[in-house]
Amino acid sequence: MLRFAPSPTEDMHIGNLRVAIFNYIVAKQRQERFIVRMEDSDKERNIEGKDREILDILQLFSLHPDDVYYQSHNLTIHQHMAIKLLEERKAFACFCTPEELEAEREAANAGKKAYRYSGTCERLSDAEVLANERPFTVRLKKPDKPVEFEDLIKGRQCFAPEEIDSFVIMRADKRPTYNFACAVDDMIHDITLVIRGEDHLNDTPKQIHVRDRLGYDKAMAYAHLPIILNESGKKMSKRDEASSVKWLLEEGFLPEAIANYLILLGNKTPEEIFTMEEAMEWFDLAKISSAPARFDLDKLRFVNREHMKRIDSKELSRAFGFADTSIGELVKCYLEEGSTIKEIKPKIEAIFSAKPDSGEWHEQMEKLREAIKHAPRYETFDEFKSHLMESTGLEGKHFFKPIRLLLTGSEHGPELSHLYPYIKSYLMEIVK
Ligand code: GLU
Repeated sequence: MLRFAPSPTEDMHIGNLRVAIFNYIVAKQRQERFIVRMEDSDKERNIEGKDREILDILQLFSLHPDDVYYQSHNLTIHQHMAIKLLEERKAFACFCTPEELEAEREAANAGKKAYRYSGTCERLSDAEVLANERPFTVRLKKPDKPVEFEDLIKGRQCFAPEEIDSFVIMRADKRPTYNFACAVDDMIHDITLVIRGEDHLNDTPKQIHVRDRLGYDKAMAYAHLPIILNESGKKMSKRDEASSVKWLLEEGFLPEAIANYLILLGNKTPEEIFTMEEAMEWFDLAKISSAPARFDLDKLRFVNREHMKRIDSKELSRAFGFADTSIGELVKCYLEEGSTIKEIKPKIEAIFSAKPDSGEWHEQMEKLREAIKHAPRYETFDEFKSHLMESTGLEGKHFFKPIRLLLTGSEHGPELSHLYPYIKSYLMEIVK
């Protein structure tokens, strides 16, 4: 089983979407189940409605989960597992206050040493624990040997016991910490491979250690995806608007193109333009570069244009408020002028909006408007043009400038002979 485990605490980032896509593809390739687990244990950080928004985005990208779980529903399981670890003396109650811990941390910083828990409460006797009425957290005792694992992208990883440290698994309010809840949930969901961002690489030895202490010995494979850099070479963050999936969709990028681009990023693929179904034929995690990938908006624009060319024209027309193959084809004529729905939309709107009734070519436009209203239906632009030239007596730029303005609302654009087949059935509406 594979899982996508978003936190409903922020807008979906392209890094999250890439993780979801890869998990989905690998699950399909292996014919395993793909689940979504909302990591909503950190109540203060959850944002109302974000879970729904994330699920809607997955739907839009056709990443259909076999099941959706909410981590908070597993709270009693997390608490039982923590009690088991306490009973077996693999974990201990820690009464250190946040202030005391902060002082330890500051001392470590001042000595330029990595912070490690002092171990004070691990040495308390049972009597001392029982006599203490202060709130306590639960810490898992650090391992006694290094934790090693093979990452499918990053290679062999080895973490010393001190790096893992005796970390907190249950907070003082008796809710699990991220590493504990995640490790337990991956275990109970029988996850076989965890694909997630590199920012979680240091969490993995802790999670392996939790499961080891709980006696779970089934191997779980890991693949940590390198971070995505922005165009100036810094880690992409919320400040980069292109990092938000919502923003990219609002900018008029197609889900198919965004998915294609994210699969392409830092990867060796047999083709550059493909659908997710095609990618399932050859996708191989081992081909993902272990170095950070650099986001390139122009490349995404190129990929988007290629998908706009390929997409079913009737489907494309829906983004423009139509359900007509001709309008989809008309949009495709504008791909030299724009690469996204947002860029092409004003051009299509200009064709259908009222044309100015003043200006340099006003008189000629009026003549043409009347002629078009009474003209027979012509199949080709050549026949249409000859008829109009004859009936209005206009020619040269006195014909071509006003006819373009009348039909497209713009002085420039694709050849009218290319546009004509797709607008010919809308002429009355266009010149109204
Ligand atoms: N909830 C974590 C996040 O959104 C992901 C945890 C994981 O994939 O293990 O960053």
